[in-house]
Amino acid sequence: MKVFKFGGASVKNAEGVRNVLKVLEKTGKSNNLLVVVSAMGKTTNALEEVVEAYLKNGNFREKLGAIKKFHQEIIAGLFAEADTAVLQKTESFLNTLENFLEHNKSSKYDFVYDQVVSYGELISTTIVSEFLEHSGFPNKWLDVRHLIKTDATYRDAQINWRDTQFEIRKHTRTNLLNITQGFIGSDPNNFTTTLGREGSDYTAAIFAYCLDAESVTIWKDVPGVLNGDPSIFQNTRLLEQISYEEAIELAFYGASVIHPKTLQPLQGKEIPLYVKSFLDPEGSGTAVRKGLHLSPRIPCFIVKKNQVLISLSSLDFSFMLEENISEIFRLFHLYQIKVDLIQNSAISFSVCVDNRFNNLEKLIQHLKARFKVSYTKKVSLYTIRHFDEAAIKLLEKGKEVLLKQLTHNTMQMVTKENI
Ligand code: ASP
Ligand code: MG
Repeated sequence: MKVFKFGGASVKNAEGVRNVLKVLEKTGKSNNLLVVVSAMGKTTNALEEVVEAYLKNGNFREKLGAIKKFHQEIIAGLFAEADTAVLQKTESFLNTLENFLEHNKSSKYDFVYDQVVSYGELISTTIVSEFLEHSGFPNKWLDVRHLIKTDATYRDAQINWRDTQFEIRKHTRTNLLNITQGFIGSDPNNFTTTLGREGSDYTAAIFAYCLDAESVTIWKDVPGVLNGDPSIFQNTRLLEQISYEEAIELAFYGASVIHPKTLQPLQGKEIPLYVKSFLDPEGSGTAVRKGLHLSPRIPCFIVKKNQVLISLSSLDFSFMLEENISEIFRLFHLYQIKVDLIQNSAISFSVCVDNRFNNLEKLIQHLKARFKVSYTKKVSLYTIRHFDEAAIKLLEKGKEVLLKQLTHNTMQMVTKENI
């Protein structure tokens, strides 16, 4: 059994859905397969806006209407007019959603969010499943909410692995083509939950783990995993193979390769993960698997922009010791500031941090009570995994370097952003 995953960008219009069929034809896979599909295009964002509007002033109908229209247009591009079954199913989902919004009494944002945004995936998989069925690919549509069982942490639900494995094995028809939703599950009371934004890759990994699948393939609009984001770095190259550990490292430093959560279940059972282009299904893509750390062994470039470099020293020039450092980290934790790089000397301590929740000013005030504090906003943190001299030179060119750190495999550098 294999697992395929198609993301929102791959099914953003009728042509995208038709291309899913092409991928199945070209890979010769129409059974022994489970296909995970996300919401079409930017539907999840649009549904987030419905939640926002609903909780703010109850005025969600216009936004919901636009989502309906978007899907109707895709359906019109895929099916002959006489075909009303898929339209009815889509409408029925939207009616259920509207009904929920009309009768819901909860004002808990996370709960309402999960009940609403999950419809993106329910509708997209219905359209894909019906289209494949009409095109000579009989398949079984699975409501993943009966299969993926989670706790009730809405928007970040944690998997109940025992129940999930049991349900997945019970409901998946391993000899057939199965189509199901990414990103969503259900809690012990059968309310819908979600696994966090971009969670569909994780869903594919959960299925692969529970079914002891042969492999997982994520179909994307890029040829595979590159050694840098091509919109930022020049002359990027395709990585043919990455070990699970290396992929986790790259993600840790900020590469938007594959979420580490996706890798963990696969690594546990050594199930390979392929990242391939849905426009070139026969291309080799990237394999994430056990073995070579990286092939070809070339430097990989990662950047995190809009960081803050903070330097601290004690007010009386005494040493920065464990006690001070533990206090500093307590405050970072308190203000939800993510630390990406640390450098210390006897009397000073520098960190590069991500100001995700806009708590910086409060943190600085708090730190100033005990330390001498200076900080620079708008810095970039560059990381090169498997660096060499040439790679460092290339990166440093034309930049004002504020801090640089080298370890065995990794070079990190904080630079001023050119404004
Ligand atoms: N549709 C969800 C999102 O956009 C899940 C996913 O795409 O993986 O976050
Ligand atoms: Mg998506």
